[in-house]
Amino acid sequence: AKRNGRNRFEHFTKEMGEMAQRRRIVENDLREAITTGQLRLYYQPITNNQHCEIVGYEALMRWHHPEKGVIMPLDFIPIAEETGLIHNLGAYALYEACREAASWPGEQMVAVNLSPLQFKSSALIAVVEGALKESGLAPHRLEVEITESVLLDNTMKNIDVLRDLKALGVHIALDDFGTGYSSLSYLRSFPFDKIKIDKSFINDMQDSREALAIIRAITGMSRSLDIQITAEGVESIEQFQRLKDEGCTLFQGYYFGRPQPSENRLKTF
Ligand code: C2E
Ligand code: CA
Ligand code: CA
Ligand code: CA
Repeated sequence: AKRNGRNRFEHFTKEMGEMAQRRRIVENDLREAITTGQLRLYYQPITNNQHCEIVGYEALMRWHHPEKGVIMPLDFIPIAEETGLIHNLGAYALYEACREAASWPGEQMVAVNLSPLQFKSSALIAVVEGALKESGLAPHRLEVEITESVLLDNTMKNIDVLRDLKALGVHIALDDFGTGYSSLSYLRSFPFDKIKIDKSFINDMQDSREALAIIRAITGMSRSLDIQITAEGVESIEQFQRLKDEGCTLFQGYYFGRPQPSENRLKTF
């Protein structure tokens, strides 16, 4: 039994070692990806509830790896966060999204995801300012998406960062709403422009009374606070109609369109 235990331990440490090595390879590759332009932004349309006009797009990152093909964010964002590369990657996303959105028609906005680490960085405001300046994009056409987790700790400082962002004129959306440690009091202490209901609730809505009840609570609250509600992960016309009836004002999901490079992005729905 002892021997067996030791084998297991050796097996375990070997696996840990292999995992660490894989991480190092990804880290090196990622470093190179940033400098050689392998990171691309894809844009998924966001439509309104009136005539399904496209009001803007969310920028979603893809890594075009020379050997491995397209790598999805969940397979590299966590590594970027662990290694600190998220700051380069995040700055790239802000500059690139603003640059591309500046050539889109009318008032269409671009939404960029911010990692909690970026949000906590003292460089954030300067990076956002730089991206706006270099692109010439009107600040109200940039929206940053943050998750509830950044609001958890150090509340006063976080509220200051949110105010600084607002002072630049950019819009702020609270992403993945309902999945974290949502405290509704945050919504009162800081006026978010938008709340995005997490796609897990939209996915469960038809079979789960709880999911529907949460969607109703969010839309009910948004009406009294005058915040726009985006439903994400809308995959069918049934979901769309139901969410519209429940009071969602903006929609995003495969039903409307998948993320695409700027030049191929869906232009009308
Ligand atoms: P997210 O911000 O919640 O983005 C929405 C995700 O849902 C995207 O996954 C999108 O492709 C996917 N999606 C959109 N419509 C549908 C639908 O109808 N059904 C389903 N099942 N999924 C849908 P994606 O592109 O794989 O991105 C995953 C996550 O990676 C994002 O979740 C975001 O948290 C993160 N991410 C992506 N790009 C960036 C970035 O530039 N910076 C940072 N920090 N995070 C990013
Ligand atoms: Ca998002
Ligand atoms: Ca989301
Ligand atoms: Ca998410």
